[in-house]
Amino acid sequence: MGLKITDSVSASEKIEVKNAATVSNSKSASQNRNAKEKNRIFETKKWEIENLLKQEGCPVCWASNDQLERNWFWFFSESYGEGSGVSQYINFYGFCEKHTLEVAKRGPEYVKSAIYHWIISHKLPQLEQALREINENANSGKISIISGLEHRRVNKKLDVLKPSGSCLFCESYEATERRTVETLLVVLQAPEIRDLYGKTEGLCMKHFFKALDFTDSQYSCGLREILTFQVAKLKALEHDFDEYFRKTDYRFSKEPKGNEQTTWMRAIRTFIGDLEPKSKPNENRTSHEG
Ligand SMILES: [Zn+2]
Ligand SMILES: [Zn+2]
Repeated sequence: MGLKITDSVSASEKIEVKNAATVSNSKSASQNRNAKEKNRIFETKKWEIENLLKQEGCPVCWASNDQLERNWFWFFSESYGEGSGVSQYINFYGFCEKHTLEVAKRGPEYVKSAIYHWIISHKLPQLEQALREINENANSGKISIISGLEHRRVNKKLDVLKPSGSCLFCESYEATERRTVETLLVVLQAPEIRDLYGKTEGLCMKHFFKALDFTDSQYSCGLREILTFQVAKLKALEHDFDEYFRKTDYRFSKEPKGNEQTTWMRAIRTFIGDLEPKSKPNENRTSHEG
């Protein structure tokens, strides 16, 4: 009997142990899956950054300009007439100056006409309404619109007429910048990416400043790498400027001129980054060879 009880206890214990083992197995299986998934995501990010680092210039400028090029294409092909994008450019009365010039340069005539026709037909009634109210106030002798409560009420109404939100293209450009800077900071944990990064021109100052926004500890390794690189880059420019100014001295002005003469160009490029999309040297080479 006692034996039976012992047997039955040990059997139930066995089941519990087995259950516990099953739970722990499935836990470790799910941890394994998570680790594999994390690793897969990390490898994808690495691949993306490796490709960017093979291009000339600042990798974040490159990615953002490249994405913007694709956005232009889709915008003029179809999305100029789609939902939230339309509201955004209507409320902003179009785009920022820089991107308005691009719209003017790149957009098909029909699309440009449709965009500005929509903006005007949505905004004009609001402007007309405001004008009516101001006229009514003036005609009813409420000249006090220039002072006191009435003044504030009119101001509020006029505020609504001003552009709100942001430029569609600035917004998407900034989203790519931010995402690319973050990805770079993450994958700089990998020694092979650090090696590759060390052989490039690194970030422009504009994107270096963006990297400084990522203060979380997961980015600290990447941030250290970027900061180290940036210090070395500015030191090299400082050295070249010293050389340039040395050669402006009459005692050394007969020395042959070299790379130091174009330091100002490299400095400006370092500070401002690449404003225009660059051609893809690697791809061009492939297409010529192919
Ligand atoms: Zn840049
Ligand atoms: Zn813009």
